Amino acid sequence: MKRYVMVGGGVAALAAAEAVRRQDAGSEILLFSEDPFGFYSRPGLAYLLTGEVPEKQLFPFSAQDFRRLRLRLLHHRVAAVDLRAHVVVTAEGKEVGYDRLLLATGSSAVMPSLPGAALEGVVKLDDMQDARRILKLARRARRAVVVGGGITALELVEGLAARGVRVHYLLRGERYWRRVLDEHESAIVERKLEEDGVRIHRHAEVAEILGKRGRVAGVRLKNGEVIKCKMVAIAVGVRPNKGLAEAAGLRCGRGVLVDAFMRTGDPDVFAAGDVAEVYDPLSGRTVLDTLWPTARTQGRAAGLNMAGANHPYRRKVPINVTRLAGITTTIIGTVGQPGADKDTLGIVRGDSETWRTLPDAIAAQEGFEVNRIRLMIAGRHIVGAIIMGNQLLSQPLYRMIAGQADIAPVREQLLRPGAPIADILAAFWEQWRVQDGNRTVSV
Ligand SMILES: Cc1cc2nc3c(=O)[nH]c(=O)nc-3n(C[C@H](O)[C@H](O)[C@H](O)COP(=O)(O)OP(=O)(O)OC[C@H]3O[C@@H](n4cnc5c(N)ncnc54)[C@H](O)[C@@H]3O)c2cc1C
Repeated sequence: MKRYVMVGGGVAALAAAEAVRRQDAGSEILLFSEDPFGFYSRPGLAYLLTGEVPEKQLFPFSAQDFRRLRLRLLHHRVAAVDLRAHVVVTAEGKEVGYDRLLLATGSSAVMPSLPGAALEGVVKLDDMQDARRILKLARRARRAVVVGGGITALELVEGLAARGVRVHYLLRGERYWRRVLDEHESAIVERKLEEDGVRIHRHAEVAEILGKRGRVAGVRLKNGEVIKCKMVAIAVGVRPNKGLAEAAGLRCGRGVLVDAFMRTGDPDVFAAGDVAEVYDPLSGRTVLDTLWPTARTQGRAAGLNMAGANHPYRRKVPINVTRLAGITTTIIGTVGQPGADKDTLGIVRGDSETWRTLPDAIAAQEGFEVNRIRLMIAGRHIVGAIIMGNQLLSQPLYRMIAGQADIAPVREQLLRPGAPIADILAAFWEQWRVQDGNRTVSV
């Protein structure tokens, strides 16, 4: 009987366990997770903060689901991996052997080394424990400062604002998420935040977090301004948890490097999810994604291959349907903008490096209010899109981008100044999907 050991209790590890169980009914599967809350939806934590979703709805697996999988969930941290001996070593020093090992350790928030960063009241949003801590602090905080960029920073801003906390959002640059959004899109988000009572400080950088009796009392900015607050929430980016792999001697770059079968440099060790750095055939480079569906697909591919299948992971065009300041926003493919983003360090949550790739493309856009579409057009193809507000075209656009639809018949129309892009796309989509009906591109 083979023993499969999964390190990590997130969606990548669970998807791998399900895939192994399908292939190898008689095997033993051990899943190590240091998270005392087990398996839950991390993207859902944002909705827990705003109060839209109760905690119990974030747990997609019941006890029965775990029993059905016949896996042993072990709440221990794995501290080391010995590749030669084929064992993992827990933090308590217990050795557990494996035939095949999966590293699905996810990623963690990067915390800047600011004076005062260790004070009580400095928070991040990685897991359930963080979300609970934020909610507890929000009960007695009248004012909070949020630092950072990307999706998680806004989730913190919105979550705190929804709890009645007066939020000061600090941007080091002049606008929100400038490597992904264009000026109009940033302006839409910022205007909406300001309408909701959020105070945005541009070109604002924290020099020091001020404390009183070990707790946050405010922040001092580099320009000398002091903002009094009880909480400082930080979301400047995440880093793959590759320490275990690195210490074991596995090949790593920014994450754990894997081949097309999610296998690391060791034939019996696989990696998947936020921690994995995968090859992207479209750009010819290795990339990181921090997306829930991507982690699930990678986990599934890893699990199948761990159990002996020959199932390559095919990286899809990355997509995220998210909410920015309450505006539903879909981000697909290469949409990057020139210039540096001073608010983030590398990748953030719910992000893909692909989005920040600068496409060699021309932009076509429509609408400057809440409903907005931006297309990135390279030659005969749409290579990326951002859809804000009305989402009628987001799935068709995803299909056309992933399916590399030849848009030559409408390219000039789309690029004409003031073109009714939504109408042109809707008509083109109707034709294309009939012609392309046999091809399915799923998200
Ligand atoms: C607030 C928030 C918002 C997000 N928003 C979006 C979004 O809008 N869209 C989207 O697609 N994605 C979003 N994501 C990202 C998405 O949740 C991740 O991409 C996904 O959870 C990655 O899954 P994973 O299994 O690789 O890692 P994780 O879900 O991070 O799981 C890793 C697990 O491994 C455990 N672990 C780590 N090291 C060890 C060890 N040594 N021993 C034992 N256990 C260990 C950790 O405790 C953790 O439970 C968001 C995430 C967060 C936190």
